[in-house]
Amino acid sequence: MYARVDDRVLARLSQIVGPNDVLTECEAMAPYSHDETSGLSAWPEVVVKVESAAEVAAVMKLASELNLPVTPRAGGQGLSGGAVPLHGGIVLSVERMNRILEIDHHNLMVTLEPGVITGDLHRAVEAEGLFYPPDPASLDSCCLGGNVAEGAGGPRAVKYGTTKDYVCGLEVVMPGGEILQLGGKRVKDVSGYNLVQLMVGSEGTLGVVTKIVLRLLPLPKARLDLLVPYDDFRKAADTVAAIIAECIIPTTIEFMERDTVKACEKLMGKSVPYSGAAAQLLIQLTGQRSSEVEADMDRVGELCLEHGALDVLVASDPTTRDRLWEARRLIIEALKHESPVNHMEDVSVPRAEIPALLEGVHALSEKMGLRALCFGHAGDGNVHVNLLKDDLPLEKWEKRVDTMQRAIYELTLSLGGALTGEHGIGATRKGFLEYALGKEQVALMQRIKDAFDPQHILNPGKVFV
Ligand SMILES: Cc1cc2nc3c(=O)[nH]c(=O)nc-3n(C[C@H](O)[C@H](O)[C@H](O)COP(=O)(O)OP(=O)(O)OC[C@H]3O[C@@H](n4cnc5c(N)ncnc54)[C@H](O)[C@@H]3O)c2cc1C
Repeated sequence: MYARVDDRVLARLSQIVGPNDVLTECEAMAPYSHDETSGLSAWPEVVVKVESAAEVAAVMKLASELNLPVTPRAGGQGLSGGAVPLHGGIVLSVERMNRILEIDHHNLMVTLEPGVITGDLHRAVEAEGLFYPPDPASLDSCCLGGNVAEGAGGPRAVKYGTTKDYVCGLEVVMPGGEILQLGGKRVKDVSGYNLVQLMVGSEGTLGVVTKIVLRLLPLPKARLDLLVPYDDFRKAADTVAAIIAECIIPTTIEFMERDTVKACEKLMGKSVPYSGAAAQLLIQLTGQRSSEVEADMDRVGELCLEHGALDVLVASDPTTRDRLWEARRLIIEALKHESPVNHMEDVSVPRAEIPALLEGVHALSEKMGLRALCFGHAGDGNVHVNLLKDDLPLEKWEKRVDTMQRAIYELTLSLGGALTGEHGIGATRKGFLEYALGKEQVALMQRIKDAFDPQHILNPGKVFV
């Protein structure tokens, strides 16, 4: 269906970006054949490292002229295979487009390129007293281009929302090579359809993002972190619902089960507080005034104890805080060490349904004889369910994962939830999109795809079957 990359194509790509930024050697291309999705890889025919919107536009014009598939890529940290070039062709890497162009104090906006690492943006704006809240746990390796394309979230979404709540403007190269300026530094803008938000979460299937304008907030001045252990995961889940019902909105409410914490201990080679507890909540409270944050902490602490917490450990200094968060940030890596073959789901339910979701997943795990460890952003209803192969024979594992995946989706949808809260549909969940959304919605999405990319050259094999 698509043309192949041949010497003629390579010569034209070299003219666009220079020969040093066109990779064809296996060793050089290997890192671009996968992202962080377990068990998924595909080889590109060529990797092109672009440095400007003009270069991206020239690559897309060439791809459109010759009918070549193009897979955009930023940090390669995706967990649904979005940056994996399933149809070969060109991997278009924006890693070199990594400049923060402007921090605008008058408008509280930052303008940057898509290859900026998320953690670098945090540090740059915080040094100037400003705050960019979205904080995927991969923040020291993923980039803003990938965050926009995936609509990335993170622990702080409970109070501050996700990437979509901060994107005000985008420069986008269309699959045919046209460069569009969408939105801008405006807080308000209802001129026509909201194409900025259509791009957010479009998983690299509608256009290539080459510039991003993000809204900033004042940096919170006060912060307290609480680690709360429980002897039963149900009590932790009930506490989450109780805190929200009390109208207290912490910055984060993260949930971790014993085996996930134990896996982190193993990986780090040192102990984590309360690692023997059945489940833990990691709660962060922030605000501009210490008195308000302390009052919220008192009430949250009471609610935790009322719901059966074994203790409430408060961290007010940076060293203790870092110690509490170290394990949380390492969970995904630790679970890979625990069972190199594993499968992660990223379901999202209305927050009040968290206890029912966790209860249901545990019942399924027991029924199907498959170890399922839950952790994640319980405060916003987004739970990562990790299925571990351990020493199950491969055939049994594959069968059980398929059955369990469908059962988890059935449970989630019955609770009013969604297949994925932040990791995206990508390559790994596309078979279930119609099941979750229905024929009409998927058909409408396909017509949108056709309007943006009539040749289907941009990131083929993602989102749609
Ligand atoms: C340890 C770990 C922890 C994680 N924690 C979180 C978390 O807390 N929250 C969360 O939301 N995610 C999390 N993730 C998933 C991942 O980090 C996010 O999806 C992130 O947004 C991916 O960014 P990236 O730069 O690595 O994108 P990539 O993997 O390179 O690409 C992701 C998608 O974006 C597209 N894309 C990339 N650049 C562009 C561009 N310039 N224009 C158009 N499309 C583009 C790609 O085609 C692909 O579809 C985690 C991953 C890991 C490995």
